[in-house]
Amino acid sequence: MEHQGRHALVTGGGSGIGYEIAKDLAAAGATVTITGRRTSLLKKIAERHERIHPLTMDVSDEGSVRDGIAQAASDHGPVAICIANAGIAEGGPFAGVALEDWRRVLTTNLDGAFLTLQAAMATLDRDSWGRMIAISSIAGVRGLKGAIPYTVSKHGMIGLIRGLSEEYMGSQITFNAVCPGYVETDIVTSQATAIAKRQNISEDEATQYMAKGNRHRVLLQADEISAATLWLCSEAARSVNGQTIQIAGGQVA
Ligand code: NDP
Repeated sequence: MEHQGRHALVTGGGSGIGYEIAKDLAAAGATVTITGRRTSLLKKIAERHERIHPLTMDVSDEGSVRDGIAQAASDHGPVAICIANAGIAEGGPFAGVALEDWRRVLTTNLDGAFLTLQAAMATLDRDSWGRMIAISSIAGVRGLKGAIPYTVSKHGMIGLIRGLSEEYMGSQITFNAVCPGYVETDIVTSQATAIAKRQNISEDEATQYMAKGNRHRVLLQADEISAATLWLCSEAARSVNGQTIQIAGGQVA
């Protein structure tokens, strides 16, 4: 129960990677706020988990993030652990990327992480203990064809984490990024559908195409990403700051 008495907030905690992290933080004793736009989904999860609380919040909307996180802090205490996980992955060849598509991805993934971490930090003091983590991607450390806005947003999240680790150097708050390869979640299922359509192949073939960069030739599972995230939240990782951890089955050499 390492995190007993701590309040953790996980954006996009209603599904996939975020849900797995929220469950594991709750199992480690934290009171966990999960956020997203699907209120009924969040409420259903909260009904099943004593220490998990729902918060409807759109990370692309400044007022929603600032008011939502302030409310969560007033209900459950300062946000000592913040996982900026919410994101979208829309793709397509660069030539066809409309400015509005570019902005939608950047606004959700990068503005969302900025607003979330800033609002969470506002609930802490300079001498507080804290763990601020962004769920970036291998697309944050290498180029990913057919997903330029996503790649830029995920590189940006790593810049945000590195900058913050410098700005708060000497405090007990660490800032790190987790960079998964392809993980079997809704985001990947919809990407497989899009790739299959674009390349005129089956969804199975599209999934294999995504898994093939991974040495094990399989999609990763969300619990693998959660395990690394929980380690970054632990006391053992107190000296790990401003880093990116790639969990991609060797996809990034
Ligand atoms: P999911 O689609 O299951 O999770 C995405 C979550 O983000 C959803 O819970 C969704 O909740 C939330 N979200 C999206 N847009 C918004 C918004 N505007 N406001 C609030 N919440 C939002 O997929 P994953 O679990 O795979 O994705 C989680 C993170 O992991 C993402 O940042 C993704 O880029 C990253 N990632 C995923 C990889 C993969 O292969 N799966 C690989 C590398 C990184 P709701 O719809 O209720 O708003």
